Amino acid sequence: MKGRTIRNLFLDYFVKLGHELVPSSSLIPHDDPTLLFTNAGMVQFKRVFLGEEVRPYKRAVSCQKCVRAGGKHNDLENVGYTARHHTFFEMLGNFSFGDYFKEEAIVYAWEFITKVLNLPKDRLYVTVYEKDDEAVFLWKKIAGFSEERIIKLGEKDNFWAMGDTGPCGPCSEIVYDQGEEFGCKKPDCAPGCDCDRFLEVWNLVFMQYEKDEKGNLKPLPKGCIDTGMGLERITAVIQGVPSNYETDLFAGIISKIEELSGRSFKKNKDTEVAFRVIADHIRASVFILSEGIMPSNEGRGYVLRRIIRRAERFGKILGLTEPFLYKLVDPVIQEFGDIYPELLKNENITKKILKIEEEKFLETLNLGLEILEKEIDRLQKENKKIIPGEVLFKLYDTYGFPYDLVRDQVLPLGFSLDLTTFEKLKEKAREESRKSWKGALERAPQFIKDLIREDLQTLFVGYETLETKAKVI
Ligand code: ATP
Ligand code: MG
Ligand code: MG
Ligand code: MG
Repeated sequence: MKGRTIRNLFLDYFVKLGHELVPSSSLIPHDDPTLLFTNAGMVQFKRVFLGEEVRPYKRAVSCQKCVRAGGKHNDLENVGYTARHHTFFEMLGNFSFGDYFKEEAIVYAWEFITKVLNLPKDRLYVTVYEKDDEAVFLWKKIAGFSEERIIKLGEKDNFWAMGDTGPCGPCSEIVYDQGEEFGCKKPDCAPGCDCDRFLEVWNLVFMQYEKDEKGNLKPLPKGCIDTGMGLERITAVIQGVPSNYETDLFAGIISKIEELSGRSFKKNKDTEVAFRVIADHIRASVFILSEGIMPSNEGRGYVLRRIIRRAERFGKILGLTEPFLYKLVDPVIQEFGDIYPELLKNENITKKILKIEEEKFLETLNLGLEILEKEIDRLQKENKKIIPGEVLFKLYDTYGFPYDLVRDQVLPLGFSLDLTTFEKLKEKAREESRKSWKGALERAPQFIKDLIREDLQTLFVGYETLETKAKVI
């Protein structure tokens, strides 16, 4: 079964259960200035959950574009090293706004997983919030699970809150056991463990309380449901492959990287990590660029820049020394262009910006790596294990190295990074540049000005707020 079939099956299943099919919202959350990127299906429904907005439907289903890089949920540094984390991924979700609650939510999820997708029950576990006896009771009743299949976890893992105050409630996650060979072999390895054995596929959130300033929980008059299932993860499970990157959703991208680099994906651990990073980061870059966000040194643009540069650095491991990311735009568009037409509309500008960004960075990548290697040598001789903030800042400021790129290089060697000094130096430099600010457009490099003129039409297609326009210019 293909990834796109699973996406459709999910949406159709919930539409048949009376859910409104709501398109994915933009990756730029319009209601929430505190959030860099949309990172879950519920983001576009926040005001509905809060009762501040009423929609003509009480049940919804969506497949939401998500980015978890920078900000609260930051998976950037996991990507490449786990089989299940992406910076960009699609989240399938069903939602109830004061309509059905816990029992139906569990019935719907269980039937979908076991009857539509036919996953074997003996591979499935669930986690619940330790104080949620109702969820334990329902899982036993609906799935016929015995106690040991229901793992009780604490607040950190299984209690969800929208913020410090407001709607919150326990959650319950459906976990698929990939088999012992995927495990971390620790004696306490069980569902909830961070390794790849017990793969969390679907999170069901039962919003049933409102938290006040003092932290008191008051039951909501009507509970709400918010669920999220990663399309790439469930596809990997259905296709019986050990990582998301081996699903058909990534196949076109992976084979293009193989063609460009002349290397094969699963040859050894290093190339595998590099393939994963590049395959993930090109998807994220194409989706972010198609929203009109440009690489920059601030906010969303900086997250994009970090993603592109991290991909570039891993490209070097595959012997890719010329710009290559822009050549990977086509397979991304082939897989997603019909579902997300904004990718097609912005195809040309996406390729152009990527190529320019790559050229710019490749000029300094080697120099930066040399400096870093010398620094590592020096520190090792002095028996030191921390990369000083001054070095991080120099690499950032002169060679365009985001700190995570340094981290990828030095972590395996047992170093840590002095990020506090680094951030201080960055802030100081920012202050200084603010003082000499003469107007954003004047400061913009010529190529940006040319592109804006050339591609004004295409570029502004994805814009919905003045704020975004201002950010890009
Ligand atoms: P994990 O513990 O594996 O990091 P999570 O608990 O942070 O996942 P949730 O916030 O519960 O994830 O999101 C709902 C679902 O979205 C998850 O069950 C998973 O299927 C998917 N998901 C979450 N983060 C990612 C990611 N970085 N890449 C791909 N899928 C993800
Ligand atoms: Mg996570
Ligand atoms: Mg989790
Ligand atoms: Mg979760």
